[in-house]
Parts: sequence; C-alpha cells; structure tokens
Amino acid sequence: MKAVVYEAFSAPPQIQHLPDPTPETHGVVVKVMATGVCRSDWHGWMGHDPDIRLPHVPGHELAGIVEAVGKDVTQWRVGDRVTVPFVGGCGSCPECYSGNHQVCDSQFQPGFTHWGSFAQYVGIHHADINLVALPETLDFATAASLGCRFVTSFRAVVDQGKASAGQWVAVHGCGGVGLSAIMIANAVGANVVAIDISEDKLELARELGAVASVNASEVASVAEAVIEITRGGAHVSLDALGHPATCFNSISNLRKRGKHVQVGLMPADHSTPAIPMSKVIAHELEILGSHGMQAHRYGAMLEMIQTGKLSPEKLVGQRIDLEQSIEVLTSMDRFQGVGVTVVTEF
Ligand SMILES: [Zn+2]
Ligand SMILES: [Zn+2]
Repeated sequence: MKAVVYEAFSAPPQIQHLPDPTPETHGVVVKVMATGVCRSDWHGWMGHDPDIRLPHVPGHELAGIVEAVGKDVTQWRVGDRVTVPFVGGCGSCPECYSGNHQVCDSQFQPGFTHWGSFAQYVGIHHADINLVALPETLDFATAASLGCRFVTSFRAVVDQGKASAGQWVAVHGCGGVGLSAIMIANAVGANVVAIDISEDKLELARELGAVASVNASEVASVAEAVIEITRGGAHVSLDALGHPATCFNSISNLRKRGKHVQVGLMPADHSTPAIPMSKVIAHELEILGSHGMQAHRYGAMLEMIQTGKLSPEKLVGQRIDLEQSIEVLTSMDRFQGVGVTVVTEF
C-alpha cells in the first residue's frame, strides 16, 4: 500500500510503499476513503506525543470500507462503510466496562499508538466496540471530519457540559473545534456567545448559530463582556482553543454553578494553566475535560446529522490527495485553512 511515513520527528515525511496490513483477530482492516488532516498530526510529527514509535504513519480522522475482518469479529463484514473515534477502547478494562471507552486504560489511537490513516489501508483494533456504521447518506469526507474535533465538541457540549435549551454557552476560539461546538450548542437550543480575535471567524460563528460574539482583541475584559451579554455569565463555557488565556477567561465568565469544559489541547509549556480557583470554590464551578467520544454515542450525533439539525459538511474545507497531505501536515503551524482539510485521493 501507499502511505505517508516519517522516519524521524520533524524530518520530511515521504510516500512509501509498505506491505498491506492484516487484521488482528479482534480487528479489521479498513480501506481508507477519506482522512482529515489535524493539528494533532502536526504535534505528533514534531515529537510532542510520547505514544509514537518511529517509523510512523500519521492520521486519525478516517472513514472507509471494511476490507478484511479478523476471525473473532462478529459485528462487521467486508464492504461495510465505517468510521472510528480517534480514541478506541480495549473493551476489557474498568473504564470500558463503564462505557467510557474514550478514557480506556489501554487506548488504541490510529496515527498515535499505532499506524494511522495517511495510507490506503489502516488496521483498527477491537472492531466490535470501536467501529461506527455510516449512514448511506453521509459521504466519506464529512464522516472523516467527525472523528476528532466534531465528536470531541459533541461530547463537550452534550455529555460533559449538558447544555440545554435556553442556557448560555460561551465558546472561546472559533477554529474547527469551536465552530463545531457552536453548531452543536445551537442545535440543542442553547444561546451561543462566540469569542475569537478574528472578525472572519466570528462572522462564520454567527452564520453557524452564535447569537452574540466578542472580539477578544477589542475588549478590556473578555469575561466581563461575556457576563454582560449573558446577564450573569455562561451556564457552560468551552476553551476550544487550548491556551492559558482562553482557559482562564472561560472559567472566569461562568455564572454560579456553571461548567467549564476544556476541549483544546494544552501541550508542552501550556500544560499547567492558571485557574481562578477561589471563584471555582465560591461559585461552585465545575471543571471538566472532553477526550473524544465513545463509538456507542455516535448514534445520537448521526441522527442529528441525518435529520439536518447538524451540518458538519459546512466545516469541510479543501479536499486533497495523499501527496499533498505532506505539505499540509508539515506547514500546519504556519497555515490554518478554513475548515477541515480532508485527503480523499490515495
Ligand atoms: Zn484530529
Ligand atoms: Zn479499555
């Protein structure tokens, strides 16, 4: 098979021809039809992820067709159209038994713990609990775009934040994660305030359902601006960027007993941000994380997509081929395209 491979961190990846993968007894091999390019892939390539062993094939936002099935797999057949969450569970640890595969003790993460989907084929472990069937109406590029940013936002807004109709939801950062969260929070009936420093992104945020916006570069205090708009503070607030400043603002703009959900990653020197802990105590705030979403929770999200309440296809940007993915991956710190860039030719 053709695959994008890097032999050293930060060294130019290359297209290589590798033997086709064979399925584990509990796994499948998926013929990759689409795979998203994500900043997490860039972090991995830079050497920021301790799970990665070299040489490595990146890629974790995938959709495709089951090509081969291991002998112990009972739920899937060759030809099934599927996707996977970026964190797969083992199915046999306490977290998986409790239904929380997204925090499994021995996670399978294509493109991190194992070779990923910047390739014509990818092996997926524990297929019976990690694969998700795609509705016929959902195209592969849109399906691939769900696997990381969209599902993490869905879990953040719906399952962790428990945002509901009439509540105020603040979303700090209007990149892929933030725009997904805005669409989802709006769909569940919440009133969304979008916060960013880019007017272009704030305009997109309003198109996707935000009822108010704050340009963080134009106000003295982001938290005070949000508290004023929401008449007392957000019920649920997300740091969708992953930065000490947005994390601090997101907690500071909550109303009493509000929930902060940290969605943006905080790698390296940002990993221990300052928290207004006296406010957390006095106002009984909750601080939560969101780390992907279990395969068994995809059903609710897919129903909302099929009924038109969610339109993730609006967040799909450029479509490229496998060769072009190398340039996009390695320049991710310098160029941030609008929407999710998806590889659709292999
Ligand atoms: Zn991703
Ligand atoms: Zn597990």
